[in-house]
Amino acid sequence: MKRGFFLGLLSVVLLGCSVKKNTGQTFVNQAEADVYVKTITQVDLKKHLIVLASDEFEGRETAMPGQKKAAKHIANYFENIGLEKGVYDTSYFQSFPVAVKDPAMVEVKVDGKRLIFLNDFFYLGSFNDTNITGLDVVYVNYGIDSENYSDYKDIEVKGKVVVIREGVPRNVKVGEEWDSWRKKIEAAQKNGAVALFTIKSDFKSRVERIKFYIQNPTMELHNKGNRKPNKLIPNFFISDSVALNYFKIDTTEKFSTPSCKVDLVLEVDQILSSENVLGFIEGTDKKEEIVVITAHYDHLGFDAGEICNGADDDGSGTVAVLELAQAFKEAQKAGNGPRRSMLFMTVSGEEKGLLGSKFYTENPVYDLKNTVVDLNIDMIGRVDDLHDNNNYVYLIGSDKISPDLHEISERINADKIKMDLDYTYNDESDPNRFYYRSDHYNFAKNDIPVIFYFSGTHEDYHKPTDDVEKIDFEKLERTTKLVFYTAWEIANREKNLNRINK
Ligand SMILES: [Zn+2]
Repeated sequence: MKRGFFLGLLSVVLLGCSVKKNTGQTFVNQAEADVYVKTITQVDLKKHLIVLASDEFEGRETAMPGQKKAAKHIANYFENIGLEKGVYDTSYFQSFPVAVKDPAMVEVKVDGKRLIFLNDFFYLGSFNDTNITGLDVVYVNYGIDSENYSDYKDIEVKGKVVVIREGVPRNVKVGEEWDSWRKKIEAAQKNGAVALFTIKSDFKSRVERIKFYIQNPTMELHNKGNRKPNKLIPNFFISDSVALNYFKIDTTEKFSTPSCKVDLVLEVDQILSSENVLGFIEGTDKKEEIVVITAHYDHLGFDAGEICNGADDDGSGTVAVLELAQAFKEAQKAGNGPRRSMLFMTVSGEEKGLLGSKFYTENPVYDLKNTVVDLNIDMIGRVDDLHDNNNYVYLIGSDKISPDLHEISERINADKIKMDLDYTYNDESDPNRFYYRSDHYNFAKNDIPVIFYFSGTHEDYHKPTDDVEKIDFEKLERTTKLVFYTAWEIANREKNLNRINK
């Protein structure tokens, strides 16, 4: 926590908030909230979303130019409405390094000719960085090395590339474990090979089935020293025709030493950066306590050349955060709290594995011990197939850490919004496991009470058709107002939220 506190101001600013006593419990007077909630409008939400979910931002993919444009756009907005810079008073951006692995960057050459990923070869998992050229090649049939049968008998493969074929020989008895490619990699490695190529007879159909999962670049937080080295040597799957045309291997034979040379350049990590955008409103008399409101502004980028605008996912949550920030700032300007400080954080890297929120909670700008709550909004602009009207929202997590939070959320909804609060996905046994699938989870992991606001998935989920025209702005406005009232109560009440088991 970097901020300094000016204790002398406390008595003055205390006058700015009003509380009333009610059966011994302190409730916040919600009358002022009614004034500022009116600044949250369909018109404004739509105005924001038309920009944020436009093609200009190219689908806002983490670490890509469109995401950076969106980050600047959000930061500019925070600045315009008067939010303080959330990162140690110096910046709106908390940037974090991401390691991008593009599987197509792997360079495999045979006699100087490069094999093409998914066309000539594929691989699963990852490798250690490797850069070796001029490797000799040995073909060792099935690559089995068991007690009663060994393809490696009297064959020197040390420091070489080993090529094998799938499966087990028909006429020899070997254990079932030799059907596993892992076992064969271990055998090649034990005999001193530096890489393995496995010939797959169903190469083409296998690639068709799995390419969706293996073709796209993956990202993770880049932590130097945190990366565990791989225990196994690289293994590539190739087709019969690559074996024949590039390696000159005839698989009707059991053993050969083709004269080709193999080059391997396996340095696929590209280090890029991405940004969370943090806007801050300093509290009055409880300013060291932080109410966090989050939504992820990153999305998927392109899908086969088409832009995924992510209007619902999570443009809807992002514009809700913009409107909430504005409403609280207006209130503050007029002398109405908030008593606690508020952090409005739009995070990046969510679609790549909750990276931005993970980075924030591992490198918090504001002490997590003083972080009161995270209200996270992800996809609140559509009506799913399970509902025939728009007056609902799924709440996830509200009762898991703080009973107070759940009570506040329920009471405020009953008083002010009267939406159907649907707890279907709050059930621990729900197979969708949404509780673990958005940014609030990184806060919950740290014992911070959370509510995840969500409207469910739909036919345009993660597709280029998730567009602004399909957003239900009435629903978006109402849900944003529910978050507003809930945040207002938490930010202005006397007591901090209680915790289960404490
Ligand atoms: Zn998503």
